Amino acid sequence: MANNFDLIVIGGGSGGVRAARVAAGLGAKVCIVEEYRLGGTCVIRGCVPKKLFTYASGFSSTFDVAKSFGWSVEASFDWPTLLANKDKEIERLEGIYGSLLSASGVETRADRATITGPNSVLLHNSQEILTAEKILIATGGKPFVPNIPGIEHTITSNEAFDLKSLPKSIMIVGGGYIAVEFASIFNGLGVDVTLAYRGALILRGFDMHVREGLTEEMSHKGIKVCLATQPTAIEKTEKGLCVVCSDNMKVDIDQVMYATGRTPNVEGLGLESIGVEPGRHGEIPVDEFCRTSCPSVFAVGDVNGRAALTPVAIREGAAFAQTQFGNNPTTVDLSIIPTAVFSDPEIGILGLTEAEASTEFKEINIYIARFKPMTHAFVQTDTRMLFKLITDAKTDKVLGVHIMGHAAGEMIQMVGIAVGMGATKADFDRTIAVHPVAAEELVTLKEPTYKIINGERI
Ligand code: FAD
Ligand code: NDP
Repeated sequence: MANNFDLIVIGGGSGGVRAARVAAGLGAKVCIVEEYRLGGTCVIRGCVPKKLFTYASGFSSTFDVAKSFGWSVEASFDWPTLLANKDKEIERLEGIYGSLLSASGVETRADRATITGPNSVLLHNSQEILTAEKILIATGGKPFVPNIPGIEHTITSNEAFDLKSLPKSIMIVGGGYIAVEFASIFNGLGVDVTLAYRGALILRGFDMHVREGLTEEMSHKGIKVCLATQPTAIEKTEKGLCVVCSDNMKVDIDQVMYATGRTPNVEGLGLESIGVEPGRHGEIPVDEFCRTSCPSVFAVGDVNGRAALTPVAIREGAAFAQTQFGNNPTTVDLSIIPTAVFSDPEIGILGLTEAEASTEFKEINIYIARFKPMTHAFVQTDTRMLFKLITDAKTDKVLGVHIMGHAAGEMIQMVGIAVGMGATKADFDRTIAVHPVAAEELVTLKEPTYKIINGERI
């Protein structure tokens, strides 16, 4: 039997759920199809469980510091407790997603969907055919792993959230967000961590000071950061795994986790039935209103390859619904995206890197503060906080902010408001400092540490 809707949303993650709820609130008859669990990557096996794990692992580094303030601390860690509490919280959030959808009047189908034409979708299990004026693809992404011998013995972030026991040692392959976050998580939980990255320096695309700074900090914490190398084969041994790397390094290890990027979920989606050709990385190309080359089909979130971040998926979902069902054409400004990496130490960034700013602008000023955080006043430590501001010398506008240290993510969210409004360095300087907090550095950076004129450091 055919079921007719104004909108069918494929994928019940961050982007899909927001689009469905906003569209239903604007009067549309909406059906959302989710094949796994409502909440999607972010809630079920992404941001949320990752942040809970980050909190769990972060305690260990505070114990030594606590001692220096007079505390006696005897600590031990129980992995099953963390997993059980994490699962309970994720289930609670999944339930909330379901209730919010039904409260908004959205119909839900727990099934896998394939598009069969510009206005029709087939559900795999029920064989139900749904039709709608508009279809929204919000199917997100999945881990990509390279095809090397023994890859079947490895895990990705998906499995890392449900390991039966904590390994004694782990190799994490990759140098992006997920690799450095999980390297810090496992390190903080007492696992012997090796990070193997194929490039010369982790976090490609980030500012050089952050990339170098985090590499140093991770090494100080005991993570073995192995650069310009990657596994070429992985063998199962009696004790665990043996990893053979491109530089002939051989490592015996309990577990190998791949964090080598994610690819858009478009397999079996039926894009050929609507004439939509995926881009070079498998993403679904869209215009500023998230419309694909098929006028009745739209794509938001990770699957369109613009910026793989939850807040972006949510904004795109809401903007799509406003545009299509609220008679209110809305686009999402992606020019300044504040973002955080939940490594230890944390990173918060926005705007241009030094390398980008120096090619785009004739003359830029670089302000840097690097110092031992006050929490570590009583201990011997190599830990340093980093604040870096990049400004355009001509207009005084702040072009980029790069922070590494405790609560960098919280700070960059606030700085994002000012920079989004076009703040200048003078605006930062006019702001009275809050004392004593680390973030006062942002408004007390006096002279440029150095300048870059026509690409040359002065
Ligand atoms: P998703 O949330 O992935 O939802 C897509 C949904 O579609 C899934 O539930 C899937 O099951 C379903 N689906 C797919 N195909 C079909 C089909 N054919 N039929 C029915 N259902 C289908 N971002 C941040 O901003 N901050 C973070 O700290 C952060 N941490 C992360 C940590 C990890 C380990 C990972 C993997 C990601 C993290 N992200 C983070 C990224 C963030 O999770 C994604 O950007 C976000 O979830 C994208 O939302 P989405 O709606 O596009 O897709
Ligand atoms: P990233 O794109 O951040 O990093 C992928 C890493 O894998 C890079 O270091 C890349 O190297 C490396 N790589 C890619 N292909 C290969 C290969 N064939 N062999 C070896 N190494 C390879 O992806 P992630 O998976 O870490 O995260 C996916 C996205 O999810 C992020 O980009 C981010 O948008 C989002 N995310 C956001 C988080 C947050 O906001 N805190 C946290 C986690 C994820 P190279 O750089 O040399 O190409």
